[in-house]
Amino acid sequence: YRSYRLASRPQGAPTQEDFEIAEAPVPEPGEGQALLRTLYLSLDPYMRGRMDDAKSYAKPVEIGQVMVGATVSEVVESRSEAVQAGDVVLGYGGWSEYSVEDASTLRVLDPDAVPVTTALGVLGMPGFTAYAGLLAIGDPKPGETVAVAAATGPVGSAVGQIAKIRGARAVGIAGGPEKVRLLEELGFDAALDHREEDLRGRLKAAAPDGVDVYFENVGGHVWDAVLPRLNTYARVPVCGLVAGYNGTGALSPAGSMERLMRAVLTKSLTLRGFIQTEFVQTMHADFLRDMTEWVRSGQVRYQEDVIDGFDDVVGAFNDMLAGRNFGKTVIKVAD
Ligand code: NDP
Repeated sequence: YRSYRLASRPQGAPTQEDFEIAEAPVPEPGEGQALLRTLYLSLDPYMRGRMDDAKSYAKPVEIGQVMVGATVSEVVESRSEAVQAGDVVLGYGGWSEYSVEDASTLRVLDPDAVPVTTALGVLGMPGFTAYAGLLAIGDPKPGETVAVAAATGPVGSAVGQIAKIRGARAVGIAGGPEKVRLLEELGFDAALDHREEDLRGRLKAAAPDGVDVYFENVGGHVWDAVLPRLNTYARVPVCGLVAGYNGTGALSPAGSMERLMRAVLTKSLTLRGFIQTEFVQTMHADFLRDMTEWVRSGQVRYQEDVIDGFDDVVGAFNDMLAGRNFGKTVIKVAD
């Protein structure tokens, strides 16, 4: 079977040369473990951070190690009571056609209930990130305005739709006219293309009462446009800064830090970073209950970008980081 092993630490956007596609015989599971065949691999922005060795909230992938990632897989062989051969499970098999994992860490999925790919998106880690960050930190009130960028992605699209369920007004920001149309279909009250001119002016028109919650996914020029529109007591869950993940973005102009701190002070802003794992214990059960219900009832809809084939995972990953994806990016690895 094939797997992507990190061969070098990328400079800027990763290239095929930063990975070795290794071939190996299918392994045997040990006691308490299961052998899994990957059906779907999730591609997520955080993976770019794992390719670097800079200090972060999670350990980097070592050179020579299989690239990490969440997977939906079929159990081929189990040496545990927890799962059985034939089960479809959510695991963490990485960029690999097969994996051996501790059976106790796997979540058995019900393919008849909802499509299994949702365990990687709206009903998985990204959906949970939206739920926890928006409700625990953003805490939108009825009538307030919530803004979010990367708004057609699995995190952003859930943020906007949960905001609507909470009675808030949702303003989505995304790249390109097709994504703007999708946001309108998903029920966002306003949708803005961040690649067009004068984002700041258009945001002012779309959020005439200002922004009470800005769910920060991207940073960069979108943040620059949103900051002046934040209301007194606005909350900013800082979830991601994807505009800078390849480390190639322009640096902020001189004085921008002073302007930010003045805004934090004079508008009594709350900026609060978070990693979704901190909320798992307190909120994950509620998330699964609420989100499953919302997805079934159609109150939360989702878009997936399922790419057939394991041959160009690096290309698909770069497309996702650069916004050439359309919804949650998933690689179909096997039938
Ligand atoms: P997406 O599928 O939305 O993919 C990333 C998107 O970011 C791109 O599609 C693109 O959308 C947008 N983007 C990239 N560069 C820029 C830029 N320069 N300016 C504006 N937008 C840009 O990703 P996810 O929904 O999976 O993740 C969204 C964010 O949430 C990421 O920052 C991620 O790191 C973060 N995250 C954080 C977690 C946490 O625990 N804190 C957990 C999970 C995710 P477009 O075409 O619309 O510009």
